[in-house]
Amino acid sequence: MKEMKRTKIVATMGPASGAKETLQTMIEEGVNVVRMNFSHGSHDDHLKIIHTVREIDKEKGTHTAILADLQGPKLRVDEVKDNRVELVAGKEIIIGTKKVLGTEKRISTNYEHFANDVKAGEAVKLDDGKLHLRVVSTNGKDEVVCKIEHGGILSSKKGINLPNTKISLPCLTEKDTVDLEFALEHNVDWVGLSFVRSARDIIELKHIIKQREKHAMVIAKIEKPEALDELDDIIKETDAIMVARGDLGVEVPMQNVPIIQKDLIQRCIVAAKPVIVATQMMESMISDITPTRAEVNDVANAVLDGADAVMLSGETSVGAHPIEVIKAMAKIIDEVERHDQIYYHETVPAESNEDRYISDSICYNACRLAKRVEAKAIITMTFSGYTGFKVSSQRPRARTYCFTGNRKILTLMSLVWGVKAFYYDKMVSTDHTIADIKYILKKQGYIAEGDNIINIASIPIAEQGMTNMLKLSKA
Ligand code: ATP
Ligand code: MG
Ligand code: MG
Repeated sequence: MKEMKRTKIVATMGPASGAKETLQTMIEEGVNVVRMNFSHGSHDDHLKIIHTVREIDKEKGTHTAILADLQGPKLRVDEVKDNRVELVAGKEIIIGTKKVLGTEKRISTNYEHFANDVKAGEAVKLDDGKLHLRVVSTNGKDEVVCKIEHGGILSSKKGINLPNTKISLPCLTEKDTVDLEFALEHNVDWVGLSFVRSARDIIELKHIIKQREKHAMVIAKIEKPEALDELDDIIKETDAIMVARGDLGVEVPMQNVPIIQKDLIQRCIVAAKPVIVATQMMESMISDITPTRAEVNDVANAVLDGADAVMLSGETSVGAHPIEVIKAMAKIIDEVERHDQIYYHETVPAESNEDRYISDSICYNACRLAKRVEAKAIITMTFSGYTGFKVSSQRPRARTYCFTGNRKILTLMSLVWGVKAFYYDKMVSTDHTIADIKYILKKQGYIAEGDNIINIASIPIAEQGMTNMLKLSKA
C-alpha cells in the first residue's frame, strides 16, 4: 500500500533549491507546496521556479502547489556590502532612506516614511528581532541615528520591525501590486499576504484576483497584533492562514506565540480553512546536517496541534541541506502520524455553512463512519474542492482522495491536510464512476482488495450538484 504523509510541507525557494534535480528530489521526499517569497529574488528567478515545478509535475505526475508570498507593508533594509555587515553593540548606525550599499556606519531602508514615523527612544529590530537598535535621533526627513544595543551579522534585505511605532503603509503596496500581477499571470495556486491587519485587506486582494478571473486562493499571514484583534473576520474572509512566527514574535512578546499558534490552528480547523505553521522550524539545518531536539519537538508539536502544513524558509532557500531538511521533517511527521491524538475524535462538527448543510452533513458523517469501520479512504468528487476542505477539517485517519475535472484545484489541494487530488472527468453514472475510481486507486496502490472505502458524491453525478450521497463498500 502506498503511504503518504497527511501533514504537508511548504518549502521556500531560493538559490539552494532552484536546480531541477534538487527540487525534484525535494518533491519526492515530501514537499507539497513551493513558496516563492517576493521579498527576495527577481521575477526571472521566480519564473524559472514556476517552470521547473511544472516540468517536474508533468514528468512525475505530481501536483505541487505554488504559493506566491507578497511582501506586504514590510520594512526592510536594502542591500548591504558583501551581503554581510557586522553591527557592534554600543556603536551608532545611520538608517537612511537614500539608497546606499549598506556598511557598518550607514544602511538604507525601503520605507520612505521611516524618519517621519519613528521617535527618539523607540526600538528598532532587525532580522526577525535578532538585532536590537534604539533610535537616538531623527531628522524627520531622511535620516535616523540608532544605537546598536544587541549586534550581530546583518545581511541584505532583512526585515525591520518597529514594535512601538504605527506605520503608515497600505497592506498591498505598489510592489505587491506588480508582484501580484506577475503571480496571477502565471496562475499560481495560493497568494500569501503579509502583515494583514484587517479583513478588508483580504477582501481587496480577493477582489483583484476575481477581476483578473483567476482561481488563486488567499493565505492571510498573521504577524501583527492588529490582526489578532480581528481574527474572526479575517478567518471568515480568507481561504487559509499562516502563523508567521518570525515577524509575529517581534510584534508581540515572543512568549505569546505558542498559545497564539494553538489558538489559530484550532480556529482554522473549525472553519475548515488550511493553516500553515512557519518560521525557524528547522533553522539550525541552514548550516547543520541534523536539527536540534527542540526543533524536532517544534515540528512534532505543530503536527500534534493539527496544522495542515509546516513550512521551511531559509532552510530550503539558502540552506546547505535542502534535501536533508525535507527528509528530516518528513520523518518527524510520519512518526507523529502513527499516533492517535491528531485524528478525528467525534468532537463537535465543523461549522455548518447554511447553504451547504447537506454537503456538510455528508462530510461530517463520512468521517464518523470512516472511524467506526476503520476505512482506508474517503473518496470525494468535487469541482470546487469544497468537500475536500470539509472532510480534511475533520482530520480522519482515512486518506482523502479528491477526484476532480477541474485542473485548477488539482495543485491547490496539495496544501490541504490528508488530501490527494486526481484528475477525472468521466462523470457518467454514479455506479460506473465509483467503480472506475475504485479501480484507479487499486491499480495505483492507494487502496487494497478488501479495504473499507467510503464514497461521497452528488446524485445524479452528471449534474455535479451538491454532495448528497454517502456509500460504504469494500475495495
Ligand atoms: P518573511 O517575513 O516573508 O518570511 P523573510 O525575510 O523572513 O520574509 P523567508 O522567506 O523567511 O524570508 O526566508 C528566510 C531567509 O532566506 C531570507 O531572509 C533570505 O535571507 C533568504 N531567502 C529567501 N528567499 C530567497 C531568495 N529567493 N533568494 C535569496 N535569499 C532568499
Ligand atoms: Mg521569514
Ligand atoms: Mg513575515
